[in-house]
Amino acid sequence: MNIRFLGAVEGVTGSCHLIEFRDKLIMLDCGMYQGKDKDFNYKGHEVSPENIDYLLLSHSHIDHSGRIPLLVKNGFKGTIYCSKPTYDLCEIMLLDSAHIQEAEAEWRNRKARRSGKPTVPPLYTQTNVYDSFKYFKPVLYEQIVKIDEFLTVRFNDAGHVLGSSIIEMWFEEDDGITKVVYSGDLGMRDKPLLKDPVIIGSADYVILESTYGNRIHANTEQPEEQLLNIILKTVRRGGTVIIPSFAVGRTQEIIYHLNKYYDNSLGSASDKINELKRIPVYIDSPLAKKATEVFWRNAHAFDKEARNYLMMGDNPLQFENLHFTENVEESKMLNHSDEPKIIISSSGMCDAGRIKHHLKHNLWKKECSVVFVGYQAEGTLGRRILDGAKDVKIFGEEIHVNAEIHNVEGFSAHADRNGLINWLKGFKEKPRKIFLVHGEAQSKAEFANEIKNILDIDCVIPAYNVIYKVKKRAEVVELSLKHRTWEEWAAVEENALMEELKNKLRNLKRVSETAFNLTEEWLREDDFNLDRYNRINNELAEIESRIMNLALLSGE
Ligand SMILES: [Zn+2]
Repeated sequence: MNIRFLGAVEGVTGSCHLIEFRDKLIMLDCGMYQGKDKDFNYKGHEVSPENIDYLLLSHSHIDHSGRIPLLVKNGFKGTIYCSKPTYDLCEIMLLDSAHIQEAEAEWRNRKARRSGKPTVPPLYTQTNVYDSFKYFKPVLYEQIVKIDEFLTVRFNDAGHVLGSSIIEMWFEEDDGITKVVYSGDLGMRDKPLLKDPVIIGSADYVILESTYGNRIHANTEQPEEQLLNIILKTVRRGGTVIIPSFAVGRTQEIIYHLNKYYDNSLGSASDKINELKRIPVYIDSPLAKKATEVFWRNAHAFDKEARNYLMMGDNPLQFENLHFTENVEESKMLNHSDEPKIIISSSGMCDAGRIKHHLKHNLWKKECSVVFVGYQAEGTLGRRILDGAKDVKIFGEEIHVNAEIHNVEGFSAHADRNGLINWLKGFKEKPRKIFLVHGEAQSKAEFANEIKNILDIDCVIPAYNVIYKVKKRAEVVELSLKHRTWEEWAAVEENALMEELKNKLRNLKRVSETAFNLTEEWLREDDFNLDRYNRINNELAEIESRIMNLALLSGE
C-alpha cells in the first residue's frame, strides 16, 4: 500500500491524501487551497480523477471538501463516503463556494476583457456541484462499512464541526490487515453542541492534523462570559455589537451560548439576563441561516448537554429574540436604525460578504463594539482592525475606527498540542508511525519532537507527492508489520464497541422503553460479530434521531 500527500502538506489548506491499494485509488479529502496558496487550485490533481475509486471525506469545511466539484468536473465517477451531517453541510457549502467561484471569475474576466487578455472559466460552477451530489454516500457514525472486498471503513465523531469524522480504514492485504486512521481535523474536548473526539483503540499508521501542534490554547475566562459582558457594556451606552463569524460552526456555537441566556430553561433569571432579553440578535448571512437549519435536522449528533436542552423542550439553537435576515433589503434595514442590537455576520475574516457593510456603518461609532471570535489571517480586513488600524478602507471608502475592538479567544475548533497528545494517548497500542499533515512547518517539526519525547512514537513529516510505502520490508517506512486477521482486530476493539453500545442504551432507556427492550435482546445474542454490531448501531441511531426530531418539534 502506498500513501501520497497531495494537499495540506506545506500548510493548512487544500487537504488531500491518496492511498494506492491493490488496484484501487482511495482519496482522503479533496480540499480547496485558500489564502496565499489559492493558485494551487488550478494545478490539477496529480492523478486522473476518473481513476479514483473512493473519496473518504472527513468533514465539510471547504479546505477539506472544496475541490470535490472540480474532481467531478474532471471525470471522477467513484463513491464519496462521509457522515450524514457532513453531506447535509456540503450541499449548502459547496453551492456557496461555486457561487463565489463564479462571481470571482466574472470579476476577473470583466477586467481581462477590458485589457484584451484571455478570459478564464470559474474553477467550477453550481452545475458541477449538483453533479457531485450523486456520488455522495452518507454513512452513520460508528457504522462499520465494507466498501469493497478488501477495504473496510468506519467514521467516528471528531468533535470539530457538525459531522466531522475520524476515519478508520482496514486494508486487507495478502499477508494480513493494515489499519490506517485519518484524524481529519480534531476538535477540542467539552465544546458546546459537539461531542468529544472519539478515542480510537488501535492503528498501524495515523495521519494526524497538527494545526496547533506547537501551541496551547490560553486558558482564558469563559469566552461566553466575556462575550456577555461586552454585549451588556455596549448596549448600555446605546451601541450595536458586530460579531464577524464563520457561517458554519462558530455562528451556531455563538447562538448556543446566547440561547443559554436568552432562553434559560434552567430558570435562573438574573438582572443581566433580563436586560439581555431586550436586545435583538440578527444572524445576517444566508449561509449561516441554512447551516443552522442543517444543525436542527441533525440534532442526533449533538452532545449530551445540547440534547438535554432539547429533551427539556428548548431548541438550543433558537430563542425568541433571534432573527435570521431573509434578504438583502432586511440586511440593509439593520443599519437604518440606531436601536442597540447584536449582528452576527460573515465572512469571519471580514474579507467578503455582508459583514463589510455592517463594519462600514458601525466601525466609526464609538458606542459600538466589534468582537472577533475566530482566527484572523494575515492580510485580511479583520486582521488589520484587530491589529489596531486607525483607518481602514471598505468599499473604497476611508472609515475611521472608533468602535471598541475585542478579541474573545477560546472558541477554537481545533485541539491544541495537549488535546492532540491526549487523543494519541488513547491508542491502546502505539501506532507504528504518525504522518503529520495540516500544519505549518515549524508546528509539525516541534510537534514531532514532542510526540517522540512523550509517547516514543516516530513521526513522518511528509513531502508533497512523495510515495510512502506502507507494508512489509518497505523502503521508506521500514517496519516489520504484525498483521492481524479480522477476528483479531475485532477482539482488540470489541470491548470498547460493546461498552459504547451499552452506554447508548442506558441513555435511551430514560426516554424510550421500547428502544431499551429491543436492544437489550440483541445484546444477549451470541458472540460479537460485525453484522450484528452494525445492525444494533444503525437501529439505535435511527431511534435516537427520531427521538431528537420529536423533541425538536415539540420544543418549537
Ligand atoms: Zn476543519
